[in-house]
Amino acid sequence: MNFYSTNKKSLIVGLKEVLFNGIAPDGGLYMPTEIPKLSNDFFDRADSMSFQKIALEVGKKFFLDDVENHLLEKMINDALNFEIPLVEIEKDIYALELFHGPTCAFKDVAARVMAQLFGYFAQQSKKQITILVATSGDTGSAVAHSFLNVKNIRVIILYQSGKVSEIQEKQLTGMGGNVTALEVKGTFDDCQKLVKQAFLDDEIKQNLTLASANSINIGRLLPQTFYYVYLCAQLRKKNKQVVVSVPSGNFGNLTAGLIAKRMGAQIEHFVAATNQNDTVPIYLKTGKFIPKPSIATISNAMDVGNPSNFARMLELYNHNVEQMRKDVFGISFTDEQTKNAIKTTFETTGYTMDPHGAVAYLGLKYFKKNSPDSVGVFIETAHPAKFSNSIPIPERLKDYLDREKKSVLLGNSFSDLKKFLLD
Ligand SMILES: *Cc1c(COP(=O)(O)O)cnc(C)c1O
Repeated sequence: MNFYSTNKKSLIVGLKEVLFNGIAPDGGLYMPTEIPKLSNDFFDRADSMSFQKIALEVGKKFFLDDVENHLLEKMINDALNFEIPLVEIEKDIYALELFHGPTCAFKDVAARVMAQLFGYFAQQSKKQITILVATSGDTGSAVAHSFLNVKNIRVIILYQSGKVSEIQEKQLTGMGGNVTALEVKGTFDDCQKLVKQAFLDDEIKQNLTLASANSINIGRLLPQTFYYVYLCAQLRKKNKQVVVSVPSGNFGNLTAGLIAKRMGAQIEHFVAATNQNDTVPIYLKTGKFIPKPSIATISNAMDVGNPSNFARMLELYNHNVEQMRKDVFGISFTDEQTKNAIKTTFETTGYTMDPHGAVAYLGLKYFKKNSPDSVGVFIETAHPAKFSNSIPIPERLKDYLDREKKSVLLGNSFSDLKKFLLD
C-alpha cells in the first residue's frame, strides 16, 4: 500500500516509511493513495466472525503488500488479545466498549497493532529507534505499554504537567524499562507542537532515528477501522441504518470511521461529539476552521483545540464542507451536561459511562431525535473507574497505583526538548 502527504509536496512512499516518518517531510499527514474495498461477500460472512478475524481480514487489505499473511495473523492475534463488547444499554443504543485492553484505554487497540508493525520493521533495519509521543492522557500509557521491552526501541512520552488524572500519571511515569516520561509545563497542544517541531529539525534527525506514535501516525489510524467494520457486522441483522457517535479530540478515531465507511462499512452517519473544544463542530456549522487554544474539561483526553487529523478529514471530502456534512454531524457539550448524562444514564439504565463516552452518548441521543428508526452506537473510550472514585478499579490498573512516579520536568520551549534529546 502506498501513501501520499496531505500537503502534496512529498513523494509517495510505502508502509515502512510512513510508519517511521510519522509526518511527511512537507509537514503533511499521510493518507493511502487508494482506499481498499471490502466485498459484499465479506460482509455476508462477517456477522459470524470474531473481532480478531474481522481485524485480520481488514488488516490484510492494508498490510499484505508488506507483511506475510501468517506473520500478520500472529501480529493481530497478539495485539488484539481482548474483547470489544457491543453492549445495548437502551433500545437501539449501544456502547462499543474499546477499553478492555491492558491500560483500559481505547488507544490500546491501535497502539498495540502499530507496535507489532514497528517491531517487525525495526528488526529488519537493526537501528535504535526513538518513539516520540505527545499525550493528553491515555495515548502515552497505551503506547508505552504496547512498546515496553520491544527491542531497538526507546519511547519518550511528553505529557501536560498537572492536567492528567493521578492514575493516568502513574501509568505514564511508572513504566520504567525503555520508556521515559517528560512532564511538560504546558498544555497538550504545546506537547504536540514540540513533537511536530522535533520531527522537522535537521540536527535531531541527523543524530536520532525518530518515529511518532501519535494519532498522526497512519499506523495508529488504520487499525482503528477494524472495530467500525466489526460493529457493522454485529448490527447487520437488524437491517436498520447505523449511526455512530465518536467522542473526539484529535479526530483520529472519527477519521478511521470515515475510512471504514469508504471501505464499505454501512454506517449512515457519524456524530463528531466534542467537549467545549469544539473547533470541528463549529467548522461543520460555519464552514470555517479556526483552531484555538485548548480548554481543560473533565473529558481531558479530548481537550484539543487544533485537531491534527482534520487535514485528513478534508482530504476525504475534497475540502468541501457540504460533502462532509452529508456524513458527519458535529455537536459539543459542556462538563455540566456530561456529568448529568452520566448520572441520569446510570439511574435509568444502570450503565456507567466515563466522561468521554458520555459526550458521545449525548451526541448520539441528540442525533437520534431526528432519526428514530436508526440503530445508534456510541464509542466508549475509557474505563469509567479512571475518572470516578466510586467505581472499583480493575486489577490491571491497580498495579500502577503502587508504582513510583519517575518523570523529567521540562519547559515548553523547543530548545528544552532539543537539549534533552541530544544530550
Ligand atoms: C484519545 C482519546 C479520545 C479522542 O480520540 P481522538 O482519536 O483523538 O479523537 C477520546 N477518549 C479517550 C479516552 C481518549 O483517550
